[in-house]
Amino acid sequence: MEATRSFDPYAVFASSVRTHPDRIALSIGLQEWTYAQLEEHASAIAGWCERYTPEGARIAVHGQKSLITYSAILGILRSGRSYVPLHPDHPPARWRTVIERSGAVACIAGWEVEELLRNEVHVTVPDSPLQEEHGAVRSGNEAYVMFTSGSTGGPKGVPISRANVAAYLSHFLTAYDYGPEARFSQIFALTFDLSVHDLFVCWGSGGCLCVPEQQGALTVASYVERQKITAWFSVPSHAALLRRMRSLRPGVFPRLRHSFFCGEALPWDVAKAWCEAAPNSNVVNLYGPTEATIAITAFDVRSAAGGIGTVPLGVPIGTNRTLVVPVADRDEGELLLSGPQVSSGYLEDAGSTEQAFVKIDGQPGIWYRTGDLVRKAEEGTLHFIGRSDDQVKVLGHRVEPGEVDSVLRALLPDVSILTLPMAESGTTRLVTFIDQELETSGLLEELRSELPPYMVPERILFVDTFPLTAHGKVDRKALIEMAKHG
Ligand code: AMP
Repeated sequence: MEATRSFDPYAVFASSVRTHPDRIALSIGLQEWTYAQLEEHASAIAGWCERYTPEGARIAVHGQKSLITYSAILGILRSGRSYVPLHPDHPPARWRTVIERSGAVACIAGWEVEELLRNEVHVTVPDSPLQEEHGAVRSGNEAYVMFTSGSTGGPKGVPISRANVAAYLSHFLTAYDYGPEARFSQIFALTFDLSVHDLFVCWGSGGCLCVPEQQGALTVASYVERQKITAWFSVPSHAALLRRMRSLRPGVFPRLRHSFFCGEALPWDVAKAWCEAAPNSNVVNLYGPTEATIAITAFDVRSAAGGIGTVPLGVPIGTNRTLVVPVADRDEGELLLSGPQVSSGYLEDAGSTEQAFVKIDGQPGIWYRTGDLVRKAEEGTLHFIGRSDDQVKVLGHRVEPGEVDSVLRALLPDVSILTLPMAESGTTRLVTFIDQELETSGLLEELRSELPPYMVPERILFVDTFPLTAHGKVDRKALIEMAKHG
């Protein structure tokens, strides 16, 4: 009798190592490593983790896309520890916050950043084997912690268990056939949980993870061609940009068999253009917040004739469940999620956890309140309407404008501050309004040293007084109009 397959993220990789050690597992630029070679690197790092860090510890990984980083992720998981990725383009102050909040006991990075980590983040390299248990100790059930924008008090850590990831992988490694020669894209930053799909759906299917040499949409079309990509995964903004650059011509991606999009609304016109550009590929719109592990609903674009606006979110995958809770005076409701992919709450943040992870009368389990407004069609398909709060996506990155305000408030205690998203020609940017005339270049510099680049507002504008609506609230529309014309 065949043993039941484990979908634990490290186990799916290890199973491919056993079945075809000589196939290529990782390709970065012109360099390639087989499954056996990658396993060798991972096991060396796992040995280091076991010797120098406590069981169940969290270990930060500098997210430069290199052999060391991919081996570190695998090695950390192999050793029963969990990884906390740091974005290479984020300022060291952000890395420090992430390391402190997660309680990571060490950081694995290439030598290029060692000095920066030592001097600016004050990470030290353990130089003697573990003597005594220190740092946060967990049961070894956690896979990773990703940080998302928080409206107050900085970024929120979302711990995701190995069981959460296994629930996701069990669907994606059985519902789709990637074929023996599958070659997966790896566009997502390792700080974005969608990268977990790239790595482990690829390695679980025995495919090759193809890391582009250069990031950026300009080189995407040639990357797909050169690397002979068969399984694509990106945010819709990427496809939209390709389309604007006229690179999404019919039939341009004949090798693609699978195309997944996630992270923000997928416009129908972009989806249709992709269907024509990749005539041999299925095209799937995935939806899901970090708190529900990568993606939790799916919609097959080719199953529908088309539509206006954005592609539906579809139906939950696996045994996950959705609930639409009516919102006063509106036809749509807030989407709540429950099931094996849903995290148990935020890291060290009981207040936010209590607000977002709730119990519902008559429904078993814990439900995560997404803040997304949806409509459920009769046959159960979910349609995305928008957000119930200020959260926005800037090129696929989740941003709470309030987080920008809280950093500025610490710098300008007596000034009224409001950051708003401004959508123009298909892209969203942030604009901050303040009611004191100040020199803003220094302020922007200050924000750049603390926040990820996509969270730094494009402009800081001075307003005499904030305009108010008839109900006495700040008139956001009027402010946006001022920004457009000023
Ligand atoms: P993140 O935690 O960064 O993955 O962001 C999750 C949020 O992105 C969701 O709560 C939605 O607001 C948005 N989102 C993700 N996927 C989709 C999608 N397919 N369509 C519309 N919005 C999406």
